[in-house]
Amino acid sequence: MTTAFPLFLNLKSRSVLVVGGGMVATRRISRLLESGAQVKLVAETCSPVLAQHIERNVLEYRQGRFTEADLDGHLLVFAATDDATTNARIASAARRRGILANVADAPELGDFITPSVIRRDPVQIAISTGGASPVLSRLLRSRLEAMIPRNFGRLAALMADFRHKVRERIGDTIARRRFWEKALDGAVAELLYAGHDQQAFSELERQLSGTPGQPIIAGEVYLVGAGPGDLDLLTFRALRLMQQADVVVYDRLVAPAILELVRHDAERIYAGKERNMHSLPQEEINELLARLARTGKRVLRLKGGDPFIFGRGGEEIETLTEEGIPFQVVPGITAASGSASYAGIPLTHRDHAQACLFVTGHLKDGSMNLNWDAMLQPAQTIVVYMGLQGLPVLCQELIARGMAADLPAALVQQATTEHQRVLCGTLETLPGIVAEADVQPPALLIIGEVVRLQEKLAWFHPAKEAGLPGSTVD
Ligand code: SAH
Repeated sequence: MTTAFPLFLNLKSRSVLVVGGGMVATRRISRLLESGAQVKLVAETCSPVLAQHIERNVLEYRQGRFTEADLDGHLLVFAATDDATTNARIASAARRRGILANVADAPELGDFITPSVIRRDPVQIAISTGGASPVLSRLLRSRLEAMIPRNFGRLAALMADFRHKVRERIGDTIARRRFWEKALDGAVAELLYAGHDQQAFSELERQLSGTPGQPIIAGEVYLVGAGPGDLDLLTFRALRLMQQADVVVYDRLVAPAILELVRHDAERIYAGKERNMHSLPQEEINELLARLARTGKRVLRLKGGDPFIFGRGGEEIETLTEEGIPFQVVPGITAASGSASYAGIPLTHRDHAQACLFVTGHLKDGSMNLNWDAMLQPAQTIVVYMGLQGLPVLCQELIARGMAADLPAALVQQATTEHQRVLCGTLETLPGIVAEADVQPPALLIIGEVVRLQEKLAWFHPAKEAGLPGSTVD
């Protein structure tokens, strides 16, 4: 069996013929123009985009049907008319003249295909499935798209800028390769991915001036939101940083399945946060992160949900800023979004809620210090984090201050996970329902008219499907 020969063509100033003026031709032509080819188009009618190209004189155009003479002087031809017979005729005429042809919708009739491409200019990854299936190549493409950072191509630009300097300063080939390997897989790359080009350049400059001799210690902290539980809800960036960290400092809320995805040889430090049982006081966590980074480690601070929503992420990076330690913050899906989506409770709704309030229902000495006036506003949804213990107090207070006792409210237990349960009631009834239900934390409270929609919109029923009792209140 023979396999296709992969290659990337330099088409700068080379003549390429495209026959046909529809969608396929338009797509091919835009790529051809980007690669600097001189395009001649032969078509009876043209798409609006092609008409613009013609008007702006970026390609040569002959209106009419294909004739063999059109092939003269071209390196390649794309047969992209909507008539299969014409396309086949173009391909065989091209072959007689030794010109390579591509045939739209019938790759087997031509000499080459245009692969599915993942672009991180100037880096490109081309995929071929040997003609087996466009679906397969699309699937592969979406996986690779997910894995390769958006700004990956900037690494190439950075290397181009520094290549000369690096070669001058590091004579030894192996040392030079090591230098690049480290640069392209560490802090420099991360800075580029996060869009800090200037800092990446200075960091590389700094690393370069310290070479050879002792390696420069450049620790950093990634403050990453791990989402509410379901690992499919991690961001691409979170996953990437999880796989390159040297040490992870994590909370109780981070699901074990998510922790599994952290690089296997990374050191693991549990920072706790059990209710009433803070394993590590916040100040110690702040200091720990800074200390680890100072020793040159890539420190992953992994938090449940989003680090900036009731996550004290702000305090943790404040210490880092004070010490000049580089860091980045990766948002996560917060429990409110996760619970709302997976419970089928839209947080806002044209008819029911024009605003949404996130509050913490943490009890302090048996009472709750909340902005009650803000909570009593009509037409809004209230989401209460850390409100399980204080639920009876909270509902009582709201009713006492004038909120309707029959206002719908729901408690979502362990949202987005296989243990999710949604308990629905009203301000009056919910505390009783919850008391009966042996709820396992974490749990989030949602109050407002939107809770009524749950009955209709619920779509995620893990416990029910597994035959367990009480996944939703019927
Ligand atoms: N930073 C986190 C919140 C931390 S506070 C975030 O953005 O989600 C901890 C509270 O979050 C818990 O008491 C609970 O109210 C809520 N919570 C976190 N994960 C949850 C989940 N999977 N289901 C329901 N509530 C959750």
